[in-house]
Amino acid sequence: MAKYLEIPFPTVENPFDGHIHMHRWQYKENNETFIHGLEEYRRVCGLKYIALASLPSGNPIPAPRDVSNNIMCAFYKLLNENTFAYGGFIYPSYPANEAEMENMSLVTQLDELMEIGFDGIKMLEGKPNLYVRVGKKLDSSFFDGVLAKMEKQGTYILMHAIDPEEFWSNPTEENIKKGWCYGDKSKYPTSGELYNQIDNILAKHPNLNLCLAHFFFCSEKPEKLVKMLDTYKNLAIDITPGGEMYIGFDKNPEYFKDFFTKYQDRIIFGTDMDYSPRIEGGIWLCDRQYRYFATDETLDSFDDHKIKGIKMDNEVVQKIFSDNLIKKLGDKPKEINKEALKRYIEKYKHLIEDKELAKYIDQLAKEYL
Ligand SMILES: [Zn+2]
Repeated sequence: MAKYLEIPFPTVENPFDGHIHMHRWQYKENNETFIHGLEEYRRVCGLKYIALASLPSGNPIPAPRDVSNNIMCAFYKLLNENTFAYGGFIYPSYPANEAEMENMSLVTQLDELMEIGFDGIKMLEGKPNLYVRVGKKLDSSFFDGVLAKMEKQGTYILMHAIDPEEFWSNPTEENIKKGWCYGDKSKYPTSGELYNQIDNILAKHPNLNLCLAHFFFCSEKPEKLVKMLDTYKNLAIDITPGGEMYIGFDKNPEYFKDFFTKYQDRIIFGTDMDYSPRIEGGIWLCDRQYRYFATDETLDSFDDHKIKGIKMDNEVVQKIFSDNLIKKLGDKPKEINKEALKRYIEKYKHLIEDKELAKYIDQLAKEYL
């Protein structure tokens, strides 16, 4: 069997990778900058659309996690067609301090990002390490105003909340290195507490245009998602790995085939691909996910597991790999408002830690805005 399908996504029109990041602004190895950094990946995988999820807050390793990430995503959108982007909220210091954020409240930031031309918002504030760092409950008044506004205007939110259960109970060496180990109860909330907070958010904002990333880490407890999807009609979930998710699906193929049939309009494809000159990993992810949903092949999968494809109907595959996200975002990304982006850079560039990067951003602004 060939390693990859010769034509990626052979049955899908306009494939759409709805969950990609842009961590680095330059690769020193080959002097390539981020400016067209994902286009080779897009070309090889035959992706018509991509959506960048900015991560301007969080663990600063291996790349700066500050306002520069929003700015880079905006430039990428400006300079590459058919690119959508979700902006993220920034915090001038941690834990978040409302007094310090007087002229940059989350609502102000939302307005600024939407004015620049972002197509949605990425929230990572429910990932336990960032959750602890920001120091605000997801269902607290700190987030309430901005969630209410996003609900009202129908802003698409891609939210990473919680993490796989193993990160609490049995983290790997690699998890520990990344700070993704949450067993210490004096420091970290339990996954149950975080699940409750998301429940509370949805109870309060039932029409939120929310997509919960990584299957909301529920492949071992899908009944939780069933309840949520049945209650909240705007709620979607993405199938971006965590490999544990696909291993979970594979334990109960009949169940998940029914699940994906029933919720076929609410499932969104993404890879978590990152800008990198090494695109093998992204190709592998596209191939694996497509084949899992579209064929009944037995596949080499995550963590040395084999999984067997569930062969959904072409029509369902088309929705998952393209149509569902187009329905949410439209088939044309919002235009970048250059003046608004210029103002944003001026307002926030003092928060860029890497001074070389700040200079480069100034240069980009001069050249393109
Ligand atoms: Zn991600």
